[in-house]
Amino acid sequence: MKAVQFTGHGGRDVIEYGERPEPTPGPDEVHVDVKAAALNHLDIWARRGMPGLNLEMPHVPGSDAAGVVVDTGEEVTRFEAGDHVAVSAGVSCGACEFCRDGEASMCVRYQVLGEHLPGVHAESITVPEANLVPVPDGVPWEVAGSASLVFQTAWRMLVSRAELSPTDSVLVLGASGGVGHAAVQIADHVGGEVYATASSEEKLGYAADLGADHVIDYTEHDYAAEIREHTGKRGVDVVVDHIAGESWSDSLGSLAKGGKLVTCGATAGGNPHTDVNRIFWNQLSVLGSTMATPGEADDVLSLVWDGTFEPQIREVLPMSEAARAHELLENREGFGKVVLKPDSEL
Ligand code: ZN
Repeated sequence: MKAVQFTGHGGRDVIEYGERPEPTPGPDEVHVDVKAAALNHLDIWARRGMPGLNLEMPHVPGSDAAGVVVDTGEEVTRFEAGDHVAVSAGVSCGACEFCRDGEASMCVRYQVLGEHLPGVHAESITVPEANLVPVPDGVPWEVAGSASLVFQTAWRMLVSRAELSPTDSVLVLGASGGVGHAAVQIADHVGGEVYATASSEEKLGYAADLGADHVIDYTEHDYAAEIREHTGKRGVDVVVDHIAGESWSDSLGSLAKGGKLVTCGATAGGNPHTDVNRIFWNQLSVLGSTMATPGEADDVLSLVWDGTFEPQIREVLPMSEAARAHELLENREGFGKVVLKPDSEL
């Protein structure tokens, strides 16, 4: 079988679509024939390499995939051959104090398939039973294979961490990315007024279609000033930030008194300037969030499977063109999820 893989960290030229042995499931694992898989920013970080990341090479990237169960290990009880399944990439130990508290994504030994462990951008994969969710018949493979990571991440950020209420206004930064476009939909469904930023008229149009009430081109406008103007100087209740970098102080500057900034990433830089005076005087909360618990993932994915939320598909490419898929993310070209399909499926 073939898989996207790389033998060392580096630029997009390290990516190859190579031959791998067909995997066999361990006792608690499920063998899945992959129909569609999606990219996330994690795949870029895993390819480039990060401090403290020691991957066994060659590494197969990828945290999102969906497909059909081929066979199962003897201890597997929830799935059988022929079932449609999607991967939920967080791996927790089940034994630490946070796992015992039901906070799987706070596990002290937390790992993510594709980031710390072998991933799922392959024709055929074996995944622990705990990392699969059932997918109802009729859900398109592109949807099943691209929703899990970004929707669970955005759901935990808004619903569990920021405790979004129907009267809360929300600003979503970078609405064209995976987490951003999921956050716009969830904020529209659960919260009040939704503001979204993106870098072009076309992307802003998509964000408005998904439920953003006000859209701001951050390349042309100072969005913190625009938010102040729109809200009679009040600001918004919640900001969803996965960018940080230079936008961080504007994110804090967009918040109303008592507002909450919730972050799940720092694609533009993890050490931004912070105005601490603004945090204490305005009594702001800065909330970290990563991935989600299995229960949170189940909740939000049930709303994807029934069509309440829908991942937007930017482009579908054969796995042999995975380097181009990485390029689409790195250059922030287009809107929504980039999906890979095994070349044999196209
Ligand atoms: Zn744990």
